[in-house]
Amino acid sequence: SSKNRVVARKLSLPETEKTGNRVTVFVRVRPISKKEKEADSRCCVTIVNPRDVYLTEFVNPNGYLRLKRIRRRHFTFDACFPDSATQQEVYSTTTSELVEGVLQGRNGTVFCYGATGAGKTYTMLGTVESPGVMVLAINDLFGKIKTRSCDGNYAVHLSYLEVYNETVRDLISPGRPLVLREDKQVMILLQQGNHNRTTEPTRANETSSRSHAVLQVVVEYQVRDAAMNIIKNVGKLSLVDLAGSERALATDQITLRSLEGANINRSLLALSSCINALVDGKKHIPYRNSKLTQLLKDSLGGTCSTVMIANISPSSLSSGETQNTLHWADRAKEIRTKTWMQANDANEDLFPVIETGTDQATLVLELQKENR
Ligand code: ADP
Ligand code: MG
Repeated sequence: SSKNRVVARKLSLPETEKTGNRVTVFVRVRPISKKEKEADSRCCVTIVNPRDVYLTEFVNPNGYLRLKRIRRRHFTFDACFPDSATQQEVYSTTTSELVEGVLQGRNGTVFCYGATGAGKTYTMLGTVESPGVMVLAINDLFGKIKTRSCDGNYAVHLSYLEVYNETVRDLISPGRPLVLREDKQVMILLQQGNHNRTTEPTRANETSSRSHAVLQVVVEYQVRDAAMNIIKNVGKLSLVDLAGSERALATDQITLRSLEGANINRSLLALSSCINALVDGKKHIPYRNSKLTQLLKDSLGGTCSTVMIANISPSSLSSGETQNTLHWADRAKEIRTKTWMQANDANEDLFPVIETGTDQATLVLELQKENR
C-alpha cells in the first residue's frame, strides 16, 4: 500500500559525523523471490524508517510448527531502500552526486556488496526495462555534458573489466578503453559485456557470479581560463559489481572451485582488510594485496567519494548472509577517505604484493577467521 511506503532519502548528517570524507553506505532489500515464497520462508528484514533497518533471527526449536523469533538487530545507514524502491530512486540517492563530481574533475566509486542473488547485478546493470546505476549514470553524464558542451570539449572513455581468479579481463574492448560518443548503445554494450562474465554453477546456487565487474568511465575536458590558457580536467567514475560475498568454503570444500573461491575472496578479503585497517586508523593499508584494490587505488581515497550499496534478500533463508552483509556495511560507515589518502601516500612501497597461487592454506585460514 502506498500509504505505508518508505521512501529512502539521503539525510544530512549531524556535524559531528562530518569529520573527514565519510563513505556513504546504503542498503537495498530486493523483493522476495518465488522460490523463497514457495519455501515458506519468513521475511526477516524490516525497514522502519528511511535510515533504520531491523534484522530478525528466527529459530525452529524441536521442529515446532511455528518459527520462533529470538533476536532483533538494529542497523542505521545513510538510507535504506525497501523492495518497492525504483532504479531511478536508487540512482538519484546514491550516485547522481558522484556524476556531478566527475564532471568537475573528481573521482567517485560505487560498490555493490552482498551474497549471490541479493540483487547486486540488478542494482548495477538492471534490465532493459529497468536499467540500473551503470546505465542511468552514463545517461545522466551525457545529458549533463550536452547542456554544458559550450564550456569546453569533453571526451568520455569507458572500460568494463572483470576481476576473476585474480586475473583482469576486458569485457568489451580488449586492449584499450572505448571512446564513447553517445549513450544510446550503453545498455547493449554492458549487457554483452556481462554475458562475457565468468559465471558457473555451484552447489549453493544455479548460477553464481564469482567475478567482480568494474565499469570505469573517464571524463576528460578542456576549458580555457580567463587568460585563455587551456586547462585539462580528468574525473573518473568507477562502478563495481562485486562477486558474491557468501563463504566460498561453505559451498565447495574439496574441488578446484575452493581454490578459485579463495582467489575471488582474496579481492573481497583485501577490500575488507583495507576497510578494517582504515577504520582502525592503521598506517599500513594493504591495498596492494589484490587485483581489485590495485585497480581501484586511485579511486578509493583522497578527494574520491565512495559509496557502498549493500544488497540483501528479505528472506529468513538468507538471514545468515544478510547479517554478514549488514555487519560489513556497518563497518564501512566508519571509513574516512582522507585517512586512506594519507596512508597511501606515506606507505605505498611498504607492502609486498602477494603472488597468485601462493599461500592458499594461510589464506583459507584467514577466510575462515574472517567469516566467523
Ligand atoms: P546478484 O547479482 O547479487 O547475484 P541479481 O541482481 O542477479 O543478484 O538478482 C537475483 C534475482 O533477483 C534476479 O532475477 C533479479 O532480477 C532479481 N532482483 C534483484 N533485485 C531486484 C529488485 N530490486 N527488483 C526486482 N527484481 C530484483
Ligand atoms: Mg550478479
